[in-house]
Parts: sequence; C-alpha cells; structure tokens
Amino acid sequence: MAAIPFDLLRLDDLLSDEQRRLRQQVRQYVAEQVLPHINPYWERAEFPQEMAFGLKELPIMGGMVSGYGCAGLDALSAGLVRYELGRGDGSIGTFYGVHSGLAMGSIGLLGSEEQKARWLPAMARLEKIGAFGLSEPERGSDAANVLTTARRDGNSYVLNGQKRWIGNAAIANYLIIWARDEAGQFGGFVVEEPQENPGVQMRPIGGKIGKRAVLNAEITLQEARVPAANRLAGVRSFHDVSRVLAQTRYTICWEAAGIAAACLEYALDYAKKRQQFGRPIAGFQLIQQKLVEMAADVTQMQLLCFRLAQLMAQGAASSEMISLGKYSNAAKARRVAALAREILGGNGILLENHVARLMLDAEAIYTYEGSNEINLLIVGRALTGISAFG
Ligand SMILES: Cc1cc2nc3c(=O)[nH]c(=O)nc-3n(C[C@H](O)[C@H](O)[C@H](O)COP(=O)(O)OP(=O)(O)OC[C@H]3O[C@@H](n4cnc5c(N)ncnc54)[C@H](O)[C@@H]3O)c2cc1C
Repeated sequence: MAAIPFDLLRLDDLLSDEQRRLRQQVRQYVAEQVLPHINPYWERAEFPQEMAFGLKELPIMGGMVSGYGCAGLDALSAGLVRYELGRGDGSIGTFYGVHSGLAMGSIGLLGSEEQKARWLPAMARLEKIGAFGLSEPERGSDAANVLTTARRDGNSYVLNGQKRWIGNAAIANYLIIWARDEAGQFGGFVVEEPQENPGVQMRPIGGKIGKRAVLNAEITLQEARVPAANRLAGVRSFHDVSRVLAQTRYTICWEAAGIAAACLEYALDYAKKRQQFGRPIAGFQLIQQKLVEMAADVTQMQLLCFRLAQLMAQGAASSEMISLGKYSNAAKARRVAALAREILGGNGILLENHVARLMLDAEAIYTYEGSNEINLLIVGRALTGISAFG
C-alpha cells in the first residue's frame, strides 16, 4: 500500500501545475506497478525488468538532458522524480539514476552532437540501456586516479583494467568506461553491446544487503576494443565527469529525502493503528518524540532539496552546496529509517512492511555518489580553504 505523502510545510504549494502532474504520474506508477510487486524481487535479489522498463511510459528519461527525445526536465521536476522513486523503491531508483542520470547525463553533457544523436534517442525510449563505469576495486573514493587505461591503436582504443559496482552493466547496451589514455588524459569510452565484446568479462556482485533488486557487476577489461569515435568528445579531465556527478549527486539528495519521507509515512500510519496497553502506540510520548524527530528531519531534507533546485535552475549550485545536501540528507535518511523500523517493532524487520527494505537501501545511498565522508571533506575544504583528503 502506498503511504499518504508527508508535506508539513506545504511545499506542494510551490509547484507549478505541470510539476504536480509529473509528480502524480510517477507517484501513480510507483503505487500501482512497483510497491505491490517489488519485495519478492528484492528478496530474491532479482532485477524486475518489466517494472523497470515500464518507466519508459513516463516523460522522465534523460532527466535534465534536453533534445534527442530526452525529457529536458527543470531541476525541481528532476528532483521530484527521484523523490517519488525513492518513496517507492531504491533499486528502481538506482536503475533509473544510472541509466538516465549517469549514462545519459554523461552523453548529454559531454558527447558531441553526433554522439548524442547516435545514442540518446534509443536510450530515451529505453530500447538501449546505459551504465557508467567509474569505480574500481582499488579506486573507489579516489576515482580521479583510475587505473584503467585506454591505448590508441589505429581507429580504436584498447581498454585494460577493472571496474566494480557498475549498476545495470549486465543489461547495458552502452557501457561508459572511464579511463586514462597514454598521455594520462582522462576519458570516457562508450563500449557498445559489452556482452558481445570478447575483451569484457562481467561478474555479478551477489550478497548485497541493500539495493538488492538492481544489478551491480565487477568488470574486467582485457584488450577490450572500442572505435575511436566512441570516446566522449567533451571530456578533457576528471573535472568534466565531476559536472555529471554534480547533477546526479543533486538528485541523490532527493532520493534520500524520498526514502526518509516514506519511512516516516509508514511509521505514522502504523503507530496510529497498532494498539498496545489498550491504546494506539501513537498516543505514547516516546513514540511521538520519534515521529516528531523524523518529521523535523524529513522537513529539513525537503527544504534543502527545494533550495538546491532553485540554485540548480540558476546554474548557481556549487559542488560544496550539493555535497552539503548529499552529506546531510544521506545521514538523515539513515537515521529516519532506523527510527521507523523501531516504531514498527518486530514488524519493522519484515519486508512486507517496506521499511526494512528502505532502511537497507539507505545504507547504499550513504556510500554511493561520493561517500558521506568524501562529501563532508568537500564541504570542509570549502569552509576552511584546506584540503583534508590526502
Ligand atoms: C549499490 C551501489 C551502486 C553503485 N553503482 C555504481 C555505478 O553504477 N558506477 C560506479 O562507477 N560506481 C558505483 N558504485 C560505487 C560507489 O561510487 C563507491 O562505492 C563509492 O565511491 C565509495 O568507494 P568504495 O566503496 O571503494 O569505498 P572506499 O573509497 O574504499 O572508502 C572506504 C571508507 O573510507 C572512507 N574514505 C575514503 N577516502 C577517505 C578520505 N580521504 N578521508 C576520509 N575517509 C575516506 C570512505 O568514506 C569509506 O567510509 C556503487 C556503489 C554501491 C554501493
């Protein structure tokens, strides 16, 4: 069952009719197509392909990317989409975030006109799926120093190295590999149909305790050949990929807020219905304290998202602003989800009540798109002028 949306400060009043309509479309898809079916997939760690591919019916693919059949959403709408997917399920949210945000976002921001026209339309129709290969077994937070190499050989680049955690890789038609060329220059290389490339080996990552219904893979690249024309034309340095990550990290602020809001909504509903000592547990002060702490956290998360959306729309959102949002919201999502689980008592650890799944998905959010420590250090560097990274 979908919960009643929490909006104490009436942020809904700030939306245009169009934004409200889009949010309703996503909300309805989640309520009808995701929530009734997701838990068994999560439990089996199986990707719900039909549910994920059904997102193509919504005008959301490509997020803020314009043209080439992409949605061209304003920053607030892009945030609302991630919020509603977050309120539903983290794995579906990550499938969308990787395909639409990381992969289409990289091509949209960093591809040439020819590359955008070649890859984006089919991705916007979800006929071709994208993946984004930056992290490596030995280079997680330190992704600027990837070890994967791209060697020029005639009209091709030859890729060697390893990637880890790559979402959607197993079903990807376009896998973007981030690597350094012989001159040490950073680049993005689109491997088309990686499953058919003899130089690409994939191993699924099993045993995850969060985001279980999305596919993540470890990839080995051994003399994997891609046409030279598949090097993203707009990438000169790691700074360029950071522009993509700034946009996706912004949407993660919303995802975290959506997860936390759902946890609060489920806990509130449960506390009003669950009777102990002859009355609803919502009538106990200790329960109300938890609910109010959660409501305060969720409201602060929502406000942060709305302000960041304004700054994004003005092109004025700096990396430290977005990192502050990600740091703050990912930490709060974790806290709110844990309190919700407490309020549900024993039922809180049952998948059927949704909170357990959301709580464990919040763990992944805490670490991906820059771990919370890394986002903290970005803000710390901006505040003090001193880098504490190395
Ligand atoms: C579910 C999931 C999906 C993902 N999907 C993708 C994907 O599609 N594509 C992709 O490229 N990557 C993906 N990732 C990888 C993700 O971006 C990395 O997990 C993340 O960057 C952290 O890297 P790491 O796990 O190697 O941790 P590490 O970098 O090894 O960090 C371990 C710990 O040390 C801390 N730490 C590291 N450096 C410092 C420092 N300088 N100061 C203080 N603390 C530090 C970290 O914060 C963390 O707590 C995904 C990860 C997950 C969990």
